Amino acid sequence: MKTEGYWNPVLETLSFEKLQQLQLNKFKRIFRWTYDHSRFHRSLYDTAGITPDDIQALSDVRHVPKVEKSMMQQIQRKDPFPYGDALCVPLEEVSAFRQTSGTTGQPVYQPDTWQDWEWWAECWAYILWAQGYRPSDRVFLPFGYNIFVAFWAGHYAAEKIGCEVVPGGVLDTQARLLKIEELKATAMMATPTYILRMAEVAKTKMGMDPSKLGIKKITCAGEPGAGIPSTKARMEKAFNAKVYDHSGATEIGAWSFECDCQPHGMHVNEGMFLVEIEDIETGEIIDSPGKSGKMIVTALDRMAQPCVRFDSKDVIEWDETSCDCGRTFRLIKGGVQGRADDITKVKGVLLSPAAIEEVVHSITGLGDEYEVIVDKQGDVDRIKLKVELMPEVTKAQIQDRLKDELRLKTNLGYMIEYYDFGGLPRSRVMKSRRFKDLRKKY
Ligand SMILES: [Zn+2]
Repeated sequence: MKTEGYWNPVLETLSFEKLQQLQLNKFKRIFRWTYDHSRFHRSLYDTAGITPDDIQALSDVRHVPKVEKSMMQQIQRKDPFPYGDALCVPLEEVSAFRQTSGTTGQPVYQPDTWQDWEWWAECWAYILWAQGYRPSDRVFLPFGYNIFVAFWAGHYAAEKIGCEVVPGGVLDTQARLLKIEELKATAMMATPTYILRMAEVAKTKMGMDPSKLGIKKITCAGEPGAGIPSTKARMEKAFNAKVYDHSGATEIGAWSFECDCQPHGMHVNEGMFLVEIEDIETGEIIDSPGKSGKMIVTALDRMAQPCVRFDSKDVIEWDETSCDCGRTFRLIKGGVQGRADDITKVKGVLLSPAAIEEVVHSITGLGDEYEVIVDKQGDVDRIKLKVELMPEVTKAQIQDRLKDELRLKTNLGYMIEYYDFGGLPRSRVMKSRRFKDLRKKY
C-alpha cells in the first residue's frame, strides 16, 4: 500500500466498521462535553429529554436535536459577551475570533481556543496533503486576511506540513499576480470566482498568460464552482493547473476534500466529522447512495463552541463508488450540490443554481460572469439569465445552443439578456451571489 499519499495513513484507510466505532466514541465524548458545558445546548437537550447515556449506537445520534443557524444567531452578543451561552470554555481560553459572512441574516460569532486552531490546521493538513501539497511547494494565498475564516486555516496547515507560505493579503489582484510570477509560486487557494477573476485581469489588463505562471495546483473553497465540471475546466485551462474542491464552514470546520484522483466528488473526513444526510421532505436519515438531502454535521473534536448535529443546509449525496486513492473516507457525489435555501421551485420544477452555472460555463464564447434573477410576472414565475458574450462571438452563434442546453439540464425556459464582455458587474467580494430569488425575502 502506498502511504506517502496520506497525511494520516492509519485513519485514512481504517475499515468502515472501525471508523464507525471511532465516530461513536468521539460523538459520545463531544456530546457529553457539550451537555455538561453549554447552557444553550443543555436546555435544548433537556427539552428533548435526551442525555449522553442515551447514545449507545450511531443510530441513536439521530435523536439528538439539531442546531439551526437561526438559534446560533439568537444567542450572539449575550453573556459571556460576545458569544453567548454556547461557549464551553472560560473566555480567557478563547484565542481566535471569526464570524460568518451574514449573507443569511445576522452573523454568527465563532470562538476558538488555541487547541481548536490546531485542530483546524490539522483538518486542513489532510486536505492539502491529499491534493499533493508537499514541503517543496511555495503556496500563495490571495485573500483578504480578516474576520472571515476563509483560507486562514489553509495558511496554518500549509505551514504545518512544511510548505513555504506567501500571505497575499492587502495586495490588489495585479500585485498578487506579479508576486506569484516573481516568486514562482507553485500552488494557491481561493474561491472559484476569484480564480477566474485573476485569470481575466492577467489576460485583459496585464497581457499576462496565467497558464505560464507555473501554478500546479489550486485549492478552492467558499463556492461550489470547483465541483461544477465546466467551471473547474475553465479554471484548470486558465492556469494550466489541477483544481481541487474543498468544503468547510466557520461553524463547522474543514470537513471535506477532493483528493488528487479527482473523483468528481469529495471525501468526507470521517475521522474528524460525523456527517448525516437528512431527507429534505421527510426528515429521515439517508444512509445509502442514490438520494440527496441536507447535511447534518458534527465536528467531533471542536471544543470552545461545539458543532453538534448542526443543520448546514448543504445539499449532498453519498457516492456508491470508492476512490482509486484507497481512502476509506466516503465520497459525496459531485461535491456540495447546492444550498437547501437556494434550491427552489420555479414553475413547479426544482431548480439548482449550480445546474445553470454548469451550462453557462460549458459554452465557449460566454464569459465567466453571469446572473440569475427569479421573480414573478403577475402570477407566473420568470427566470432572467444575464450572460456576457466574448468579443469573438455573436449572439446568433450562441443563443440556440444556450437555450437548448438550459432546457435540457433544468427543464425550464429563460429570458436571456446578452451583455458585451465586461458589461456585468464584477463582484467585489470573494464569494459572489449570482442567484437572486426576488420572490423570497432575505
Ligand atoms: Zn480519493
